[in-house]
Amino acid sequence: MKTIYFDNNATTKVADEVFAEISRYFTEFYGNPSSMHTFGGRIGRDIRNAREQVAALIGADPSEIVFTSGGTESDSAAIHGTLAACPNRRKVITTRVEHPAVLAVCRDLENHGYSVIELPVDKLGRLDIGQLEENLDDDTALVTIMYANNETGVVFPIEKIAELVTSRNVIFHTDAVQAVGKIPVDLSRSRIDLLSLSGHKLHAPKGVGVLYVRKGTRLSPFMLGGHQEAGRRAGTENVPGIVGLGKACEMAGSNIEDENGRVRALRDRLEKAILEKCLDARLNGDPDSRLPNTTNISFEYIEGEAILLMLDKYGICASSGSACTSGSLEPSHVLRAMGIPFTAAHGSIRFSLSRYNTQEEVDYTIEVMPKIVNHLRNLSPFVHK
Ligand code: PLP
Repeated sequence: MKTIYFDNNATTKVADEVFAEISRYFTEFYGNPSSMHTFGGRIGRDIRNAREQVAALIGADPSEIVFTSGGTESDSAAIHGTLAACPNRRKVITTRVEHPAVLAVCRDLENHGYSVIELPVDKLGRLDIGQLEENLDDDTALVTIMYANNETGVVFPIEKIAELVTSRNVIFHTDAVQAVGKIPVDLSRSRIDLLSLSGHKLHAPKGVGVLYVRKGTRLSPFMLGGHQEAGRRAGTENVPGIVGLGKACEMAGSNIEDENGRVRALRDRLEKAILEKCLDARLNGDPDSRLPNTTNISFEYIEGEAILLMLDKYGICASSGSACTSGSLEPSHVLRAMGIPFTAAHGSIRFSLSRYNTQEEVDYTIEVMPKIVNHLRNLSPFVHK
């Protein structure tokens, strides 16, 4: 059975062109870029090239790109690095819907004497900028707010937020792991100070990412050791990962508008048909400000996990909004923050598409979903029959 992969917000296929580019860095060009010999030296040039490719995608200067091991490290480095550079300020502002790579770090800061404000969202997952403004004060070291939500795809008005925050002399970080490569991000016309991105969300390998650090931003190094990345992140470079990320960024940048349009059309077709054909199905997240590839739909009275298992039997990969924690199914913190009722949050499914999905895959899923939902509803003790 062919696999239909609609879980691209979890991770993506490495593009064939990216794989072709990086395989020789394992077997042929395996030198250490810090070495004095010519063999290692050429790798340094390839890393410089990758830095330029990443910078070009997001409108940055290559000197502002710091390679890391992925989104989680970039987020941690941004938060800890800012706080270490601003020791007199003890307040951090974030949102209730961040990825755990930000939320867990912020919650841990509370154990170390920081005050952390988690801004709420409304039922469509939107932020109230007025509340952010009210909370900004002279004690605020950092505001960290995601660009696009991994579960619902909701895109926050990040440029407006960056302007507000930086006009108050506060550092602004955004976790753009789900945005870069899916929607245009242009830092040349932005007030964002720090931005995280991750290779495996845009068809590069896992285990590589970037922290963008705007020129002049005060940031203490998070990983100490060697002098790599201009002293901002120690550790021998993940050369295949970095070269692959460069190539993936070049590919994303060359065609972002066309690809977005195609992926959006597939997503819209899938979403519309499911909402029409499945009873008691509802869309989660702001329909007017969303990533083009993501749809999050709740099916009342049935468990998301049960839907996933049945989708899996048909060869379809998606993900659900609940996580199995300590033996019980907990609805996602994002859907809870949006006030989605438990009966709906439990039965939520995220489909996240990529440039590699086809119309045939969408049509097959449209055929299968009503069968799954009807079958599970017939078994559900919560539905009156
Ligand atoms: N931030 C967001 C919004 C994410 O979706 C993810 C991964 O799912 C991460 C951070 C973590 O990135 P990585 O897997 O590269 O550590």
